[in-house]
Amino acid sequence: LTTIGLYARRRKEKRELEQFTPRPIELRSDEIVSGVTGLIGNTPLVRINSLSNALGVEILGKAEFLNPGGSVKDRVALRMIDDAERFGYLKPYTGSRIFEGTVGSTGISIATIARARGYDTTIIMPDDVAEEKVKALKALGADVERVRPASIVDKKQYVNLARQRALKFGEEDAIEASEHAAQPELYELKTQSESILVSAHPDHNNRSEEPTLAMDRRGYFADQFENKSNFDAHFNGTGPEIWRQTSGRLDAFVAGAGTGGTVAGVGRYLKSLNEDVCVAIADPDGSGLFNKVKHGVMYDRKESEGTKRRHQVDTVVEGIGINRLTRNIEMALPILDDAFRITDAEAVAMSRYLVKNDGLFLGSSSACNLMACVKLIKQKGWNEGKTVVTILCDSGTRHYSKFWNDEYLRHANIPIDLSLVEDLLQRD
Ligand code: PMP
Repeated sequence: LTTIGLYARRRKEKRELEQFTPRPIELRSDEIVSGVTGLIGNTPLVRINSLSNALGVEILGKAEFLNPGGSVKDRVALRMIDDAERFGYLKPYTGSRIFEGTVGSTGISIATIARARGYDTTIIMPDDVAEEKVKALKALGADVERVRPASIVDKKQYVNLARQRALKFGEEDAIEASEHAAQPELYELKTQSESILVSAHPDHNNRSEEPTLAMDRRGYFADQFENKSNFDAHFNGTGPEIWRQTSGRLDAFVAGAGTGGTVAGVGRYLKSLNEDVCVAIADPDGSGLFNKVKHGVMYDRKESEGTKRRHQVDTVVEGIGINRLTRNIEMALPILDDAFRITDAEAVAMSRYLVKNDGLFLGSSSACNLMACVKLIKQKGWNEGKTVVTILCDSGTRHYSKFWNDEYLRHANIPIDLSLVEDLLQRD
């Protein structure tokens, strides 16, 4: 190219570039968050277009799968760790270790935050939980122990084991530590369930008491089932966010209950501002909550006699359903207006329906929740002007090996039949 040719080309390129004038933007400094915990919460509410259009009722899902740890449990893990630090049960970078018994989501959230705060994590979980959760935990550096599913009265049940490991860790520290270190106190936590549960942290009801542990290196049993920080995360976070996002205009809140923290915290917050908000639970196959809400008893004896159902929730849905009363469930029971039993086939149908019609790829408990929203709306005969809010707890990516595995469902005799949703949407 000659110099003139080169010059002409540059001018042409410049002219072309001038066509792309950047539009002026508002400069903001409040959009940078501090570390991974800054990404937790403040999730959007998403309108589920297919269901809302079909029923004429606004169905809004809190997009909790957008949390950095991938689920609603980030809020709970953050609150439990924050509170533990505030009350002196945990101190960052002391070699302290957090123990938890969980089907996965809470463990992933704890492990995520633990890494950012300088703690180690031990997660004990049943061995029938979807494999991808174990992979995520290991990638996050958690020590994972998988045990056979067992009843809550069994010492080897995963929550009980997590408690024991935390205590043992504390005892070992006491031996290692020099004389000035105090022996960690053991605290007893009695629940409504038959077992006596020993906890490595004081009863969270009595928070005014100063912790008496003197050592810095501790074993901390997070205990999401009994820990009131779980409730607080939703009462002070998720609930107010939903109220703000809907300007208080909502008629019902629907959620499944695993520990009960979400439905108790959000439900109580919403009812405290408007007692007419209907609070209902979505309860999967094999869980006792439906019977508890409808008939006052946790399980139907006839149905459960001679089967494992009494203590285990026998469903492909992970994260919700329970057969015992925990503190967080007890906080929820007085405010529950209704319950909807959701079969595995219905949850599966809803999940496939949502991908087909909305491009929303959700986890099993989200699908259960949305199925319960539809059932509630049909039962009430609601139409225009009503709004129902639910929780989209996690995404389908956590469920490839079971709930989103067609082969697995075939073996488990669970049909993939979208008409279970479509018929419900059409019938009048
Ligand atoms: N969905 C998923 C995926 C979960 O892991 C959990 C918690 N176990 C829930 C829903 C239920 O939430 P909560 O424990 O607050 O009842």
